[in-house]
Amino acid sequence: MRDIHMSTRVRHQLLAVFALLSALATIAFLVLWIRSQFAIDALVYHTQISIPGAYILRTCGAGADRRRIGLFFYEERLGSDPSIHVHDVHPGFTGGWSYQHQPAGTARPWPTTSPRWLGYLGIGWQSTNAGDSVSWTSLGYRKRSMVLMIDHWLALFISLATTAAAWRGWNRMTLPTRRARRGLCMKCGYDIRATPNRCPECGATVTPLATADARG
Ligand SMILES: [Zn+2]
Repeated sequence: MRDIHMSTRVRHQLLAVFALLSALATIAFLVLWIRSQFAIDALVYHTQISIPGAYILRTCGAGADRRRIGLFFYEERLGSDPSIHVHDVHPGFTGGWSYQHQPAGTARPWPTTSPRWLGYLGIGWQSTNAGDSVSWTSLGYRKRSMVLMIDHWLALFISLATTAAAWRGWNRMTLPTRRARRGLCMKCGYDIRATPNRCPECGATVTPLATADARG
């Protein structure tokens, strides 16, 4: 019995934490949207792998331009003669984070290859696969990229809706407990401190509050 009450309490707390996290996400998306009107920020993780005869550069990260947030992944293979691309290769470097910054309006345009109607819904993606070798595993220059995009308004809308739903759920789930703690009828909210066994308003039989749930 006690386990059931404890798990109810844990559920309440998890829901409260979830509501709080989505509220924080809402604030973060709003700040990012405002910020991206003035500057482009991107957080990027690079790796550089050296294999016999070639380098493989991988970049993944997230950034935002004025309209949308993008999650991207680039992979570039520089063949045995990387002279054209040698500026991209840093000897001894294996990987690390970097923060990139540029003024708004100068962003990479992120052209989409997704259907236009998805663009109206605030979603987009782009994927490219280019190079001079026949297959990814043979040597030579090759590049592929994937970008997933979501418009600022959609990110904000989703996080706001999630926050509202979680908050509403928490409110509904904890209402009887909160009423009981304040000496009110769990069912209708009538003050039953004078009549602690039966609610005079709705007739509900009041069970004693000696449960972990009511104390919590
Ligand atoms: Zn009542």
